Amino acid sequence: MRKLSIRSRILLLFAGAMMIAMALTFLLVYIVSASVMKKTLSDYLMSAVDTNVDKLVFLTAEEAQAEKARDTNDLFVDYKDGVLQIDDDFLEILNDVESALYTGEGDLLYGDNSLSREMAGEAFTVSRLYEKEIRGDRYVVYDRKFVGKKLNGLWIRGIVPLTRQKEQLAQITKSVLAFLPVMLLMVVFGSVLAAMGILGPVRRMEQTAAAIVDGEDLNRRIETGKNKDELYSLAVSFNAMFDRLQQSFTRERQFTSDASHELRTPLAVITAQTEYVTAKDRSSDEYREAFAVVGRQAKRMQRLVSDMLDLSRIAQGQKRYPVAEVDLSAIVTTVCEDMKRIAYNNIAITADVAENMQIDGNPDLLERLLVNLLDNAYKYGCADGHTHVVLAETDETVRLQVQDDGIGILDQAKEKIFDRFYREEESRSGGGYGLGLSLVAEIVHFHGGEIHVESQKGTGSCFTVCFPKKDK
Ligand code: ADP
Repeated sequence: MRKLSIRSRILLLFAGAMMIAMALTFLLVYIVSASVMKKTLSDYLMSAVDTNVDKLVFLTAEEAQAEKARDTNDLFVDYKDGVLQIDDDFLEILNDVESALYTGEGDLLYGDNSLSREMAGEAFTVSRLYEKEIRGDRYVVYDRKFVGKKLNGLWIRGIVPLTRQKEQLAQITKSVLAFLPVMLLMVVFGSVLAAMGILGPVRRMEQTAAAIVDGEDLNRRIETGKNKDELYSLAVSFNAMFDRLQQSFTRERQFTSDASHELRTPLAVITAQTEYVTAKDRSSDEYREAFAVVGRQAKRMQRLVSDMLDLSRIAQGQKRYPVAEVDLSAIVTTVCEDMKRIAYNNIAITADVAENMQIDGNPDLLERLLVNLLDNAYKYGCADGHTHVVLAETDETVRLQVQDDGIGILDQAKEKIFDRFYREEESRSGGGYGLGLSLVAEIVHFHGGEIHVESQKGTGSCFTVCFPKKDK
């Protein structure tokens, strides 16, 4: 079965959550209303009964006679050896509460109605509310015993129907049900808006990524919007990724084009030389000369290809060049000793190496780095000059410096010398391809370090490489 789209899932989730919330709210309102209504009803019942308790007095026959003579509206009921005077304020029916007067035996004395008759003979419960079903309807009943002169043994009973409460609850339910379609519409509408709000930016990301994949425009970026939420961070990360991809894409394209360009010259020379020797018979000196040229050009191409290969291998990271704890002091000492022997142009190399400088690195690459820097110091040094190598530690880094007193670097060139295939005009260049320092820079970055150069034209150059210290 096909899985639901994210949009549908958000919609269902949101709508479901809203409906559950609505149902729970209604349930809560229903339960609270029912209990509040019941409490109000009980309070009415009890207050009606309690009020009526004070409306009864026991009189002797003579006292009753005197009271009756006062032309009162009160009621007089014979009881035991006297008379009960019931105040005309005794309310038989108050707020749906029907009150009636009984003897302890359950005989109805006052408050005759169908309910009180039905309840006559029913055992009394001391001052406690209870529910009772009478003729199919439910009622709340409250009995209260009289205490006082000759009144002991009399009871007053209040009854109130629960029907009003039921009707009110039914009314609430009806109102909610009437609003249900409107609420459902609002929920669906809200869900659609929520789904659109959440998925809108995702959709834009998808469209931008698709446009980039289709090769439409590598410069396109995702709109980040103003809300700095999770989708904003995601869009920013995607844009950073696109920037990096575009950079490396442009770099690779430039690299391929530069490499082809560099290979074209030696290939053209080789082709010209072979055409020259095959065009007609040549003297053995001419053949020798031509092969020497071909050999030189082939060597140049070999160097170029090997440098390019190294660059691409470094890009493969630690898989190709495993990293372990290395003694940089030992590497620097050995490389300096080896390079000293070349003594190109009678340039002297001296070294000041702090002992036991350990870093995390790859020995082959670190060796290559220093060889390249010293190679340049020879190439761009002045005859009988001097190159000094220092390895020392600072607070946070292990620092390697190669200082020469050679031709120096023009100010405007300092930023470019680490670019691939960059070299100064042919007359100043030592005949390289401009890949030596790019390799150095790649090796430094591979080790998480930094490189910079200080140089003055005609005075010399100082290359400084800082490696992070080994984690203790
Ligand atoms: P290459 O030496 O093969 O030309 P590099 O990448 O090693 O390529 O160097 C790039 C450019 O930087 C060189 O062409 C050169 O002009 C300049 N350069 C490098 N090292 C030095 C140095 N020690 N002194 C003066 N110029 C230098």
